[in-house]
Amino acid sequence: MRLQNRTALITGGNSGIGLATARAFVAEGARVAITGRNRATLDAALAELGAGALAIQADATDIAATERAVAEVAQAFGRIDILFANAGIVGATPLGAGKLEVFEQVLRTNVTAVFFTLQAALPHLSDGASVILNGSVMSQMGSPGSSAYAASKAAVRGMSRVLASELAPRGIRVNVVSPGATRTPIWDSAAPTADAKTQLEKRLAGMIALGRLGEAEEIAKTAVFLASGDASNITSAEIFVDGGTNGSPVGGPVFRG
Ligand code: NDP
Repeated sequence: MRLQNRTALITGGNSGIGLATARAFVAEGARVAITGRNRATLDAALAELGAGALAIQADATDIAATERAVAEVAQAFGRIDILFANAGIVGATPLGAGKLEVFEQVLRTNVTAVFFTLQAALPHLSDGASVILNGSVMSQMGSPGSSAYAASKAAVRGMSRVLASELAPRGIRVNVVSPGATRTPIWDSAAPTADAKTQLEKRLAGMIALGRLGEAEEIAKTAVFLASGDASNITSAEIFVDGGTNGSPVGGPVFRG
């Protein structure tokens, strides 16, 4: 087991990638705390993660609530060895019809909350800890209507490099895992029905070199790697888990003759 005796805090651990990562961390021997806003899905996650886990209701954009959540984790676990700042939202901000509240909520959740979660965790992070931020291929895809989201994920990448240099003296590694389109509830608002989801997935898969969406478990495996000693000399990196979306954008099925 690669994370034996490690403690981890995962924001947004009650759904999608965060929940898959919580399961993977537990399977590798870690004690895991998750946060999220939804009490019902937090409880459901806790029931499957087992007695050693913690599920704390906290809105990541509420800095005081985040500080309380981190203090609760530190109290229960003693220290934090792995921080996965994963909580994030999408929000449409098409030029000409962008709404200030949507723009600000995306940035507040995906950027500001990430910084202040790490700042809250800092006194409890062990030397040699692993910090993982959730980025996205959308930071560089130029996808219409996604200005706020793309900017937020580009900010995550930029910020990670600063944080990696600031934390290097303590041997704390900071890396970004950047998923491509991955099958999670984040797509529910764009495709609320099964039919809409099938259509959306078909469209997306056409632009992915490997020809399919990713699974949350595939991001989780990368998070396990980055959290573990196997990644002991990796900091300030961005690992794409995207079926080639970022590196081979014209490799997708729609571009094949
Ligand atoms: P989900 O919608 O399944 O999960 C999002 C998680 O974030 C939920 O647990 C949600 O919990 C939590 N969350 C959202 N806002 C807040 C908040 N203010 N405070 C606390 N928790 C919050 O989506 P994914 O698993 O797909 O998303 C996880 C991350 O992966 C995000 O950062 C996303 O941008 C990124 N990503 C996802 C991709 C995909 O295709 N799925 C592609 C690229 C990046 P709750 O609602 O209870 O608050």
